[in-house]
Amino acid sequence: MQPTFRFAPSPNGALHLGHALSALLNFEAARRIGGSFLLRIEDIDTIRCTDDKIAQMLDDLDWLGIRWEEPVMRQSGRFAVYAGQLEALKQQGFVYPSTASRKDIQTAVTNWQNKTGKDWPRDPDGAFLYPRAMLSEKESDKGDVAWRVDMQKARQQHTAPLIWQENGPLSPFYPRCASIDAMPAVWGDVILARKDCPTSYHLSVVIDDATQGITHIVRGQDLYAATSLHRLLQTMLGLPAPVYHHHRLLTDIGGQKLSKSRQSLSLKALRQDGVTPNQIRSLIRWSDADLEAFTSKEPAAIAP
Ligand code: GLU
Repeated sequence: MQPTFRFAPSPNGALHLGHALSALLNFEAARRIGGSFLLRIEDIDTIRCTDDKIAQMLDDLDWLGIRWEEPVMRQSGRFAVYAGQLEALKQQGFVYPSTASRKDIQTAVTNWQNKTGKDWPRDPDGAFLYPRAMLSEKESDKGDVAWRVDMQKARQQHTAPLIWQENGPLSPFYPRCASIDAMPAVWGDVILARKDCPTSYHLSVVIDDATQGITHIVRGQDLYAATSLHRLLQTMLGLPAPVYHHHRLLTDIGGQKLSKSRQSLSLKALRQDGVTPNQIRSLIRWSDADLEAFTSKEPAAIAP
């Protein structure tokens, strides 16, 4: 199978040094093992993701010396595909409609915590797990429902051990190419299609990785926990499992992860200040050691 890598930015802000590391790793790893490198624009948030931001991203990547194969996939043109896959999950009874607002969840959990004196569990992103049993869902005639995965049912139906092949630098004590046990239940009944959008990051990312034939997912360690959920969704939808490589994250001087929301220095601003692509490589501490994990003898992808 042709190794295929991708860089999949969400154009709701400008690319920063963390993106440069991710994009370069994918691009250089593909070159090293003779694979393809594709781009995907994750613009399901059609309000915050604008054409200007997308054009700027492509320009920044080109300036870094990154070349990709056409066509560039854009998620905003694929809502019908996601709706079709969601429909399949509905037919199997793996998702259910939910009208509860963030405030409803907050109120229910706060009441429970006050009554019991205990903490309600949170998902890896820090959000409260959906307290399904505490909420009486209202019927909605306006179609403003979100669709949540029925985690308990999904796990009961898919009892085979759920694993992924991790090729990234987990810790100095871990060998590379570890087989990791996925733990999707830590996400609870997560939203797969939002009220304002017929999909979610989690649903579209697994569908599109399969559509683009991605064999190697190289992305930041901040998405490590999400991979458990992605493996479950791949199993539910009958999609193949790529090999994963969660790479180191860049932090600012205070040790915080770089992020668009914290206005981390953008590639655009650095370019305007006269920084060169080679200097970007120094700033992200680019080293060929980052590519050591990529050899032509990659572990085979796991069957669905
Ligand atoms: N679109 C996601 C982001 O910009 C990355 C998705 C992925 O690599 O799986 O954070």
